[in-house]
Amino acid sequence: MIELIVTERCVSCDKCVDVCPTNVFDPNLHGPPHIARQSDCQTCFMCELYCQEDALYVGPHADRPEPVDAATIVTAGLLGQYRRDSGWDEWKDIYPNEQWRMETVFRRAAEAANR
Ligand code: SF4
Ligand code: SF4
Repeated sequence: MIELIVTERCVSCDKCVDVCPTNVFDPNLHGPPHIARQSDCQTCFMCELYCQEDALYVGPHADRPEPVDAATIVTAGLLGQYRRDSGWDEWKDIYPNEQWRMETVFRRAAEAANR
């Protein structure tokens, strides 16, 4: 479940707002988006995949929030972990096969959602 946005890293690009399938975020004209509807999060990691600043943390539990401390998450190197391990974007040359698998998963999910 989405747990936090690290405001110091966020550049307010609103990509997370755009890609979230359940409209969890509200855009904010004056800074980082708000996590407005946390309980609607499906733990799909789309926001993390598209946040090029690694400013989001999505926790592994889909059924409940797990409040976390931003400093602890940053220090532990957990920001952007899913993105990195999936071979997404700038990581594609390191894990090319994993990125291919993710693209397939999301394409099938989008097709299913549009039926
Ligand atoms: S995608 Fe990342 S950098 Fe862009 S608004 Fe969301 S949290 Fe901030
Ligand atoms: S993990 Fe998925 S559902 Fe949850 S906030 Fe991010 S994009 Fe939205």
